[in-house]
Amino acid sequence: MKRRSFFKIVGFSAAACVTPAVLSACTSQTVVEEETGSDAAAQASYEIADQPEVSFDSTTDVLVVGTGVTGLSCALPLLQAGYQVTLCEKQEKLGGDSYESAGIMYVAGSKIQKQAGITTKVSKLWDQRKAQLEEANYSNIDFSRKLFEASGEWADTLADDCNAVFADPQTYSEEGTNEYILLPKNGIGDMDSVLAPLRDTLTSLGAVFQTGYRCCALIGNEKGEICGARFVSADQGDMKDIRAAYVVMATGGFASSQALIEAYAPDWVRVGCYTVASDGQGQLLCEGVGGQLSGMDNAIILTSDVPPVAAWGYFGPTLDISPLGVRLGREDSMTASARACVVGADGFWWTIFTNALSEGSQSRSVAQTVSSYKTRTYGPFDDLEALASGCNIPLDQLEEVFDDYDSMVDNKKDSLGRTSQWTRLEAPYYAFKQMPVRCLTHGGVTTDDTGQVLSATGQAVAGLYCAGSAAAKGGQGLASNGAFGLLVGRALVEKLDERKSQAETSE
Ligand SMILES: Cc1cc2nc3c(=O)[nH]c(=O)nc-3n(C[C@H](O)[C@H](O)[C@H](O)COP(=O)(O)OP(=O)(O)OC[C@H]3O[C@@H](n4cnc5c(N)ncnc54)[C@H](O)[C@@H]3O)c2cc1C
Repeated sequence: MKRRSFFKIVGFSAAACVTPAVLSACTSQTVVEEETGSDAAAQASYEIADQPEVSFDSTTDVLVVGTGVTGLSCALPLLQAGYQVTLCEKQEKLGGDSYESAGIMYVAGSKIQKQAGITTKVSKLWDQRKAQLEEANYSNIDFSRKLFEASGEWADTLADDCNAVFADPQTYSEEGTNEYILLPKNGIGDMDSVLAPLRDTLTSLGAVFQTGYRCCALIGNEKGEICGARFVSADQGDMKDIRAAYVVMATGGFASSQALIEAYAPDWVRVGCYTVASDGQGQLLCEGVGGQLSGMDNAIILTSDVPPVAAWGYFGPTLDISPLGVRLGREDSMTASARACVVGADGFWWTIFTNALSEGSQSRSVAQTVSSYKTRTYGPFDDLEALASGCNIPLDQLEEVFDDYDSMVDNKKDSLGRTSQWTRLEAPYYAFKQMPVRCLTHGGVTTDDTGQVLSATGQAVAGLYCAGSAAAKGGQGLASNGAFGLLVGRALVEKLDERKSQAETSE
């Protein structure tokens, strides 16, 4: 029998991975009989038949799939240590959900926060963050703590090594905002100030970026190790095979995959999604080579379809109410009201705000949003009667919810869990109309603490790493995913150093 090339396509994600029919095809395995060696057997059991033969276009030390905050952060220590990194991105632009996000970074203990006089111990801030994660049904709490504790160093690294610019927390901490919130330079929605300098630093260190190519398969060698990946161009007219000592899957969550949401979190299948970046391809590719998926049925995180508005409640007094005038969720959370809106089948909700917000630290975000969404912004209204009539909310209900709101802020006590912005809303009032969307998933590929992909029996899938929202241990947000990426990048520097010294010894 003619022996074929050593390199095999071992994990495959078909082009139309969004349909349930392909979902099962993605996870199917094809045993190739002619592979008989013991090492080859493990890999061969995941081989996908009838694929074009592997033909490498380029070789690199580490191949990072996905260029959100995780992938970009992962590449930094590797390039700084002198290793080659290729980053592949299925979209034409870099950044993924990370770039589109509201930019609220849950960071503790960074230099810029300390300089702003925030001296609260990280362990104390963790208690607050932990409560939030538990409320969101997040399961990997111990590792989350590790990432939270590493978030300050992540922010410092980006500021010191890449000139990423964060806003001075003093500009918004007077508003009573959480002490572990860090914002990009221009406030809500300005992730460009953080990610563009990071991208430019990677470029200057020699990173190779390949945009518009989607990873559709993993490539295995004769020892059963993952040693590269296959990519197809957006029009499927071109294909590239890239060889690497290690592959890092940093492809984000699966909030945009209707098929995966239906399979794992069917309660949320009829809620729309904000982006197209997170369609779970990384999870399917890892699963296709024996990686275990876990926690996929953890709660799906929802937010506003105009994400900056969901973040306003951190920085000024706001009130979130249903069309019938019922208060929905704590306003100093980007997710609570969206979830309550879906659970209550309200369809949409209002965020009521005043000049205290539009003239506060996030005035840029308010002005930009209001001018972009003129038909969603109602007001100004001089009193509650005008607000009720303008938004078609029953006046008696509106008066009741405002009375409750006033006593909540006066007593600084909220049954829905709010912990900041204890200021009354004073007319003129404005109302912003918004709808809930899926924005983030927890759960994904099972890994150890260095990001090494693990099988159901806890065995490492050699050569394959996963980090950020694609991983079961990631997904808590920008800063944690950035810290996770950095951590995996550093772990791979050690691995590559070991390989190098072994190679030198054996020479
Ligand atoms: C609307 C919205 C608002 C948010 N606001 C906040 C916030 O304020 N604070 C916060 O902490 N978190 C927020 N989040 C969550 C945050 O964006 C994510 O936790 C974080 O961006 C995940 O980073 P990541 O690098 O793991 O994934 P991503 O940033 O999604 O990056 C993954 C990248 O991989 C690419 N990719 C996927 N599949 C492939 C493939 N097969 N081949 C090649 N490339 C591929 C994608 O195109 C994408 O660029 C928000 C999310 C959304 C959607």
